[in-house]
Amino acid sequence: MTALTYLGGYPEPLKAQVLQLIEGGKLGAFLAKRYPDSHSIQNDKALLAYTMDLKHRYLRSSAPLAKVIFDGKINVIKDALGLHTYVSRVQGNKLKAKNEIRIAALFKAAPPAFLKMIVVHELAHIKEKDHNKAFYQLCQHMEPDYHQLEFDLRLWLTWRDLEKGAQ
Ligand SMILES: [Zn+2]
Repeated sequence: MTALTYLGGYPEPLKAQVLQLIEGGKLGAFLAKRYPDSHSIQNDKALLAYTMDLKHRYLRSSAPLAKVIFDGKINVIKDALGLHTYVSRVQGNKLKAKNEIRIAALFKAAPPAFLKMIVVHELAHIKEKDHNKAFYQLCQHMEPDYHQLEFDLRLWLTWRDLEKGAQ
């Protein structure tokens, strides 16, 4: 029995379909067909440019970003697909709050649509700290397919773990 670690919040019939794909050995082919492309965002500099481009397009008036980096230490299982941190530091007697975005390094090897989804997710957190309705509306404003992509990303993470386990 395969544990669907990344799909915990989804309805049972949907999870049953996923299990069918896995048990039929078809999940990899299913994903490869739907997401055949790779992307060239392979370092922090490229990630920063990519993120700023989206921010300028959709969140021009939001607070500035201090830092955008790939982070090899993010543990995706803990729901922290990316990691948006709001760092407060005392500088002289002024308290400065800085927005930082850390994206799990595994997204270097993910299909471009998933990289976009996770960057959109982290950008939305600049305005909305919680995963509430306004947060998801903002995500969909930047990426209309947001919810489908989040589900497919979770499928891809599931498949990735299965592949690792099979080696
Ligand atoms: Zn989040």
